[in-house]
Amino acid sequence: MSSSLPVVVVGAGPVGLAAAAHLRARGFTPLVLEAGARVGAGIRAWSHVRMFSPWEYNIDARCAELLAAHGWQPPDPAQFPTGRDVVERYLEPLAATPELAAQIQFNARVVGVTKHQRDRMKNAQRGTTPFVVRYLQDGEERELLAQAVVDASGTIDTPNPIGAAGLPALGERAAAAHIVYGMPDVLGTARSRYAGQRVLVVGSGHSAFNLLTDLARLAQTAPGMQIHWAVRRPSLQRVLGGGENDQLQERGRLGLRIARLVEEGAIVVHTNAHIERIERTDTGWVAWSGTVALPPVDELIGATGFRPDLSILGEVRLDVDAGTQAPAALAPLIDPNLHSCGSVRPHGAVELQHPDANFYIVGMKSYGRAPTFLLLTGYEQVRSVAAAIAGDWEAARRVELVLPETGVCNTQFADDEAAAAAAACCGGPAPADAAACCVADADAKASGEAGCGCGPAAVAVPVVAVAAPVKSSCCGPARA
Ligand SMILES: Cc1cc2nc3c(=O)[nH]c(=O)nc-3n(C[C@H](O)[C@H](O)[C@H](O)COP(=O)(O)OP(=O)(O)OC[C@H]3O[C@@H](n4cnc5c(N)ncnc54)[C@H](O)[C@@H]3O)c2cc1C
Repeated sequence: MSSSLPVVVVGAGPVGLAAAAHLRARGFTPLVLEAGARVGAGIRAWSHVRMFSPWEYNIDARCAELLAAHGWQPPDPAQFPTGRDVVERYLEPLAATPELAAQIQFNARVVGVTKHQRDRMKNAQRGTTPFVVRYLQDGEERELLAQAVVDASGTIDTPNPIGAAGLPALGERAAAAHIVYGMPDVLGTARSRYAGQRVLVVGSGHSAFNLLTDLARLAQTAPGMQIHWAVRRPSLQRVLGGGENDQLQERGRLGLRIARLVEEGAIVVHTNAHIERIERTDTGWVAWSGTVALPPVDELIGATGFRPDLSILGEVRLDVDAGTQAPAALAPLIDPNLHSCGSVRPHGAVELQHPDANFYIVGMKSYGRAPTFLLLTGYEQVRSVAAAIAGDWEAARRVELVLPETGVCNTQFADDEAAAAAAACCGGPAPADAAACCVADADAKASGEAGCGCGPAAVAVPVVAVAAPVKSSCCGPARA
């Protein structure tokens, strides 16, 4: 394959730009194709949201070096930026460096990747045949050849539906005019839509926390609001994160704030809510979980996470896990069915490989549907991937990654998957009569110790249960 061909990077988000910087450092000519008109188009969709990780964890080391060479003043590593801060103080200056500016094309949406004159079936000379990247730009279909492709196109454009079964709930499409997915700016551009309304937020991640906090603030000045929160879990305990013990302080604080709002009655929680149907009634939109009808509302917000768009990769030979839709070797490391905590084993090009060599999915998209992605992980991925594309497998394998841990289990599947949790963590659920959160905790208490040190921090967890909560069964992230 000709080494004069570019390495195409799909997406100019933080991970795509970091990939470009690492590729340049390895002597390649990267070409970043970005669907949006500006860098960080994905993050701009949630620019008002404060991140749960501080600057220290949001900047790639190689990019920081590049920026520093052009007189950039790094932000205070301990501060928590908003999405807008990340775009303005990091991504825009990075994209403007002479090393990267000429390598980025905007309004260029990639619509397909394949091999030159070879469809997915064709074996002959596949490894030495360049990739073809097809994209739309200026209303035209264009193509270019690439020696390698790094897909860093994120998942923000493909949110999960509200329907608990993965398909839109019955009636969800018909309710489209009253549903927003992701992170509407309810205190800013979307204020008039939500002020004084009855709103149902569905989902239990960081986005839902932010939304609920903002809606509660809006309710203080917009009388008549009702804020309902539907979560799939039977209890709120693990939804709320590590509280004061959370190493990602902002995430812990958010959990504590939500716990307070629930306690004060500002937010009404509906646990065990698996929404299957959304119905227009005389009193408003009603979401049904089995035979349970949630109170009628005027607006719904789906904060149910995202999924990868693999349709543009239909002609690439991919090895993708059937459940998470992450690269197969990465999936077991991040699968929220098995790993109920936010710690991820170090990984790089080895875990991100596909049968078509020199094709990699990185960043948020590489986690498929798993909700545990952190930027630091993505930066380590692209350092390793750039080394692998350069043939430096020694450097590609030498992955070093230290991630902060939540200190408690914090994913949407842990309670649902009791069997998986039992296999993965602390010996499984505690005996029914034990005042403990898992077998290890019960054993520790039985032998006179305070406990095994697991379980949620001292967050007062109010529960408004649709069904009885089950015991927590997990005790902190596994060691790397
Ligand atoms: C609300 C929210 C808060 C988060 N907070 C944190 C945090 O505090 N800490 C943390 O570590 N992580 C956080 N994350 C997770 C993650 O770090 C971010 O989502 C991050 O933006 C992922 O970076 P990325 O480069 O992989 O994808 P994105 O930032 O989504 O970038 C992808 C880019 O690809 C472009 N694109 C998409 N499709 C195409 C296409 N077909 N052709 C060309 N271009 C395309 C998009 O326009 C976009 O610019 C958060 C995520 C969300 C949603």
